[in-house]
Amino acid sequence: MKGSQVSPETMVAQALGEIDPATGALAPAISVSTNYEQAADGSYHQGRVYTRADNPTYEQAERMLAMLEGAGGGCILFASGMAAAIAVFQSLIPGDHVVVARVLYWGVRKWLAEFGLSWGLDVEFVDTADLDAVKAALRPGSTRLVWLETPANPTWEITDLAAVCALAHAAGARVAVDNTVPTPVLTRPIELGADLVVHSATKYLNGHSDVLAGAVASARNDPFWQRIRSWRRTAGAVPGPFEAWLLVRGMRTLFLRVRHASQTALAIARHFETHPALRAVLYPGLAAHPGHAIAARQMTGGFGGMLSIRVAGGVAQAKAVLARVEVFKRATSLGGVESLIEHRSSMEGPSSPIPDDLLRLSIGIEAPADLIADLEQALADIPNAPEARP
Ligand SMILES: *Cc1c(COP(=O)(O)O)cnc(C)c1O
Repeated sequence: MKGSQVSPETMVAQALGEIDPATGALAPAISVSTNYEQAADGSYHQGRVYTRADNPTYEQAERMLAMLEGAGGGCILFASGMAAAIAVFQSLIPGDHVVVARVLYWGVRKWLAEFGLSWGLDVEFVDTADLDAVKAALRPGSTRLVWLETPANPTWEITDLAAVCALAHAAGARVAVDNTVPTPVLTRPIELGADLVVHSATKYLNGHSDVLAGAVASARNDPFWQRIRSWRRTAGAVPGPFEAWLLVRGMRTLFLRVRHASQTALAIARHFETHPALRAVLYPGLAAHPGHAIAARQMTGGFGGMLSIRVAGGVAQAKAVLARVEVFKRATSLGGVESLIEHRSSMEGPSSPIPDDLLRLSIGIEAPADLIADLEQALADIPNAPEARP
């Protein structure tokens, strides 16, 4: 069977079926060289010159992710998710208008707030779940980029990707989607019209909380994509070869991990949906979530491993729950094999718009019953929600 006929799931499990050409090894070697030999005639044997631009270990991870995202223009790795995201913004030019989702990963929001203006960008924050608001914000001819996440951190709001892409394209703007949370297992933004997909590969793609990396993938090879590639080559925000190798290894189990985490997250969301100590369970897999119908259409095979709970009684009770968990680990980040819990507004600091009764959960691959029992015991002494559930 030819590679093009098998599913992405099979291709990624086999790391594209590539065999080390030098040794025949099934597991790839790590290519640590920073430079490549120049032939007597001045040419390079395989076109690679210096590892800031090209490295065979990055390239294997890049091919795998480009395949998963259906990215015809290819994919490039970065040193972190932030380096990848900011490379997109820094490839714009002063005066460009960018429409950015109101609910999004705080690091991107913080960079835009601190440096967007000095970079000359005209940044406008919009509720991308509201298509009329998106339409009103787009300025044909001057909006260059729409940036969003879905489900979006940390309330897991859903944006209709196909609808936003159609609106943006009609106004001449590109759409970049941070696909860190659903991963291409659950959402393939390029198939829905997105131009660029960005990842914190630190999260689900690697999946083991031991690599910092990022990536940008492009639907097509065009001048803006060439500019982003050139930015990486010259600015040098590249991972080390060992990180790229760990990422290849981590991605091989992506489908198993994401599906398991999604199933468990749904079970947890359903179990705690009516718990008296909670004001709300925020998860797009619940029918009560405002984005549920769109998520059900746009996400394939699950609603992801991320959910948030709002604890009755406010911040003190939320912190009490945090202090009592035993199986969940108190830590930031997401997408690892171990389940995490954090008080998001303290992580983000005083400017955070996140309600202070919110705890963000990243579900791992542990036995679902252990996670449910742990939350049950942590919530046991929390007073019941007095107010009506939203
Ligand atoms: C973590 C994260 C980032 C930033 O990635 P780093 O690898 O930590 O730099 C960007 N977007 C989302 C959605 C994230 O969760």
